[in-house]
Amino acid sequence: MNAHNKPNAPVLDSYWMPFTANRQFKAAPRLLASAEGMHYTSVDGRTVLDGTAGLWCVNAGHGRRQIAAAVERQLSTMDFAPSFQMGHPIAFDFAERLAEIAPGPGGAKLDRVFFTGSGSESVDTALKIAIAYQRSIGQGTRTRLIGRERGYHGVGFGGISVGGIVNNRRVFPQLPGSDHLRHTHDPAKNAFVKGQPEHGAELADDLERLVALHGAETIAACIVEPVAGSTGVLIPPKGYLERLRAICDKHGILLIFDEVITGFGRLGAAFATDYFGVTPDLVTAAKGLTNGAIPMGAVFASRKVHDALMHGPEGQIELFHGYTYSGHPAACAAGIATLDIYRDEGLMTRAAEIEGDWHEAMHSLKGLPHVNDIRTIGLIAGIELNSRDGAPGARAYDAFVDCFERGLLIRVTGDIIAFSPPLIAEKKHFGEIVSMLADALKRVK
Ligand code: PMP
Repeated sequence: MNAHNKPNAPVLDSYWMPFTANRQFKAAPRLLASAEGMHYTSVDGRTVLDGTAGLWCVNAGHGRRQIAAAVERQLSTMDFAPSFQMGHPIAFDFAERLAEIAPGPGGAKLDRVFFTGSGSESVDTALKIAIAYQRSIGQGTRTRLIGRERGYHGVGFGGISVGGIVNNRRVFPQLPGSDHLRHTHDPAKNAFVKGQPEHGAELADDLERLVALHGAETIAACIVEPVAGSTGVLIPPKGYLERLRAICDKHGILLIFDEVITGFGRLGAAFATDYFGVTPDLVTAAKGLTNGAIPMGAVFASRKVHDALMHGPEGQIELFHGYTYSGHPAACAAGIATLDIYRDEGLMTRAAEIEGDWHEAMHSLKGLPHVNDIRTIGLIAGIELNSRDGAPGARAYDAFVDCFERGLLIRVTGDIIAFSPPLIAEKKHFGEIVSMLADALKRVK
């Protein structure tokens, strides 16, 4: 089939696309051909402003030659090396560089780094490390994992078990013993807020409820996104993360922050951990780790967790876990070049400098048709629309299609529009985003 009905249009039959309504897509494809700076160009030659840093990845903007050159250099030096009882210097170099900026405000940093191939792998790795840690300190009954409603932790069986996206969970079995805190979003109390909302810290006490229900001796870890992104930008109420940390400490539960989207400058600090000043035991990362250029993820572990696992007879593998592509040389090269760019261009703190303009631009959309909430933090925004009667999500999806036609890439989830522009964005881009989205909202029914 030639979906465009144009000469030279791509054939769309074979590729089973992820997270896409395939049948619908093939009738009206949206295909991106190239990218530079803040923009994509579609196959039919239209310029599309990237309001979402790809998929929360391309923090330094597109087309960074420095990354491409580093990857090319590495591939022509050594394309691959086994990750089994063997290593290569570039993976150690990258881990050292990451250790320098590792999450952990004012004190012990989570500077032991385990490499994976994606965010989902990072989450499953962190959950496994947590269970293995508990076992290694004589707490082998602790296998239960606690997540949160409306959490997104990727698509592995661990991730969907602690995640709270109903569509992810409906078809597939989940890990026994997984349970969920309530989510923190309360539009009745916290609408149109810039930064952290005032109300809702006490929702962290849900963890006490689950401890009372199941017994602390059964719970290995609790995982949350510091700011939930994929489920529509849910920002933690003031005091919430601190309270969660305190409850975890009280009951010997490890706290995991899933920083797959908040890592690498999204909030104006290297990690949300630093931004909020709350230190978990494990942090997951991916996306901005390599500026999205090469798939890669990482788990940052505290020394307490790491060192507890470093024992056993000589020659024994301490944690029987890893991936063929853990610390892939090309991904490490991309990662080091990415860190150089972040450092040289001050991108990790840039969100803090421009978030005032960003928040103002986003909140100027208040009063437009269908908008019932706007929430912003760092260089993130969530704009929630009223649902069209009987068709939840349809209005935001229409806005997505309309924006794409106008030349703006947005991300929709249910009736929420999410923005996470590259950290190189300038004020003029915020104006363009506002104007294109406003026009789209005036048009959608
Ligand atoms: N955790 C979070 C918080 C995410 O936002 C995502 C991806 N959006 C993932 C995990 C999964 O990452 P990946 O798609 O790379 O597996």
